[in-house]
Amino acid sequence: MAEQILKTPVEYLKGIGSQRAEILKKDLRIFTYDDLLHHYPFRYIDRTRFYKIRELDPDLPSVQILGRIISKEILGDKHTKRLVAKFKDDTGSIELVWFQSIRWIDKIIQPGSVFIVFGKPVIFNGHFSISHPELEPYQANAENRGNLTLQPVYSSTEKLKQFNLDSKGLQRAQAALIDQVIRQIKETLPDYILNRHKLIGLQKALYNIHFPENTEILKAAETRLKFDELFFIQLKLLRTKLVRTQKFKGALFNTVGNNFNTFYSEKLPFELTAAQKRVIKEIRQDTQRGVQMNRLLQGDVGSGKTVVALMIMLLAIDNGYQACIMAPTEILAQQHYLSIKSLLGDGFVSIEILTGSTLKKARTSLHQRLESGELDILVGTHALIEDAVKFKNLGLVVIDEQHRFGVEQRAKLWRKNIIPPHVLVMTATPIPRTLAMTLYGDLDISVINELPAGRKPIKTVHLYHSQRLRMFGFMREEIAKGRQIYIVYPLIKESEKLDLLYLEAGIQSIIDEFPMPEYQHSIVHGKLAAKEKASEMQRFVKGETQIMVATTVIEVGVNVPNASVMIIENAERFGLSQLHQLRGRVGRGAEQSFCILMSGNKLSSDARTRLDTMVRTNDGFEIAEIDLQLRGPGNIEGTQQSGVLDLKLADISIDQKLLADARQTVIQVLEDDPELKSESNLLLKQYFEQKSPGISWDKIS
Ligand code: ADP
Ligand code: MG
Repeated sequence: MAEQILKTPVEYLKGIGSQRAEILKKDLRIFTYDDLLHHYPFRYIDRTRFYKIRELDPDLPSVQILGRIISKEILGDKHTKRLVAKFKDDTGSIELVWFQSIRWIDKIIQPGSVFIVFGKPVIFNGHFSISHPELEPYQANAENRGNLTLQPVYSSTEKLKQFNLDSKGLQRAQAALIDQVIRQIKETLPDYILNRHKLIGLQKALYNIHFPENTEILKAAETRLKFDELFFIQLKLLRTKLVRTQKFKGALFNTVGNNFNTFYSEKLPFELTAAQKRVIKEIRQDTQRGVQMNRLLQGDVGSGKTVVALMIMLLAIDNGYQACIMAPTEILAQQHYLSIKSLLGDGFVSIEILTGSTLKKARTSLHQRLESGELDILVGTHALIEDAVKFKNLGLVVIDEQHRFGVEQRAKLWRKNIIPPHVLVMTATPIPRTLAMTLYGDLDISVINELPAGRKPIKTVHLYHSQRLRMFGFMREEIAKGRQIYIVYPLIKESEKLDLLYLEAGIQSIIDEFPMPEYQHSIVHGKLAAKEKASEMQRFVKGETQIMVATTVIEVGVNVPNASVMIIENAERFGLSQLHQLRGRVGRGAEQSFCILMSGNKLSSDARTRLDTMVRTNDGFEIAEIDLQLRGPGNIEGTQQSGVLDLKLADISIDQKLLADARQTVIQVLEDDPELKSESNLLLKQYFEQKSPGISWDKIS
């Protein structure tokens, strides 16, 4: 019943009608009563405090003033046209100014009428003025509901305003709607959860998010509604995970055999870090349970994820399975192939590489050896996903830099075996805990939070373009010591032409400054054919060139331990996580490494924060946290298709504790009652089924 009424098209609401309903749909995507009910105020005017004009101060935020319009006039020519009104209370007067909607406002404000004005006072020509203030005729107060102390402000549009659906109009619509539906709204959370978390009921919360009687109840309403949002996302994620583990048996890796042991005791050229050991242990436990593993392995650049992946692959082989590792680029696949091969040494495990440029003949033989089970490990790019690639017995899929793959591609890999293979997804982009809980809430997460011993932290400096000579001098010194240098240029699509010009000019200036034959350069950018790119890369990897000038194609995973300087041009144009990734290309050898961030003099405050953060810290998780604060959860890579954006009130960069509580509660609920069968969880089950009909159980992350 309640659900029925909430599905009513918004045009049937008192005071809306078909014309307004059309605009509501178009401008605010409000189709039904339910949509309108969830169009929450974006702020509230605090009506407990009126300011006197004498008290105004340019440091004040937006304030509320009660006064009278004294006069008004339209000034300026076609381009500077504005409406200016004189507004007065018993302590002084200010100017109100409008540059838009002049005709409409002109009709509303008549000299002599009393208004409540809301806006930010600024000093202009020695006088206080407020531009585009919100206006409320004083008399209209009578029709407000109750004694509103906090007045809701709704986002609206020009078009809606013309049809009387400004914030005030929307407030009236909400009042009508709530009167009609509030008592029929069904609770979504059982009492025991409400009590445990001291949450108010849903009806009360929805009423008070629109018409709060005081700040305490508003806070309680917000908390309740945020909890709902977070709780049901977690329920969906964790329920998906539960169903998946029930449905899919996993390959058993319960033998630690010859391959693993020989590698560990004879081949491994270094001592594993404590974090690497812990992660290997976590994965081993997970792969012995007979349940399919879906694990995200997070570890900063250089933390040694590859060797962890390799050891798990050896474990798979010890148990009679094959393994594959998939990388997002050809360069990276090559690199994995070579480094795994050199770690393994000869005559041990059989390993091959498959990429888009693998020749047909090699490919055919590779397919055969894969199907017969002769091949143990396959390294490659997207080419691994193709249907022609068939394994005899695939037990483990490792995916490097996972955010580059779509869900669909991953699902294809996972169907390559009757028993779905274990999946280990590796990412060097540290994800703040809260974001990981939401984005990857249905995966298990392992973290390598420690770099191998003896690594010297990379020294980072920020230079302006005017300090370029210093940079050249430093480059000469480092090259004289036998080091290699990366110089990276941004190449960002929208302005590709301009970027290309910069890149070309940059390349030229490097060649002029570091002439051949004394200096050799590798030049890598997206316009090169794959083959050329690979050969330029190889020259650098082999140490034949000292300077590599590149666009961000080298971002992912490239490993040249002798490269000790990373120079990033126009660093202000890169995001924090990208800067951090790029910096991670150096600091891989025993030598002190450096990162030089070049920028123009004019920096936005965000750009400055990014560069300062890079100079201050090497800690990827700290950087990720700041990135989240700067950009908000919706703009972090990988969040676009996830439910994170559906959050109306909760903000996972702020509501960390609430999120942890919600998740913990869901874990508890599902532990006690995995199918939500009990009487006390009936509400949860009903709401969940109505909200998430037909979850795709096929999805792997
Ligand atoms: P990432 O986590 O960025 O993928 P890699 O796996 O490429 O890092 O490792 C970076 C470098 O560190 C490689 O040269 C690797 O051989 C080396 N390495 C990995 N683990 C250790 C360790 N425990 N001690 C010393 N060096 C290590
Ligand atoms: Mg790597």
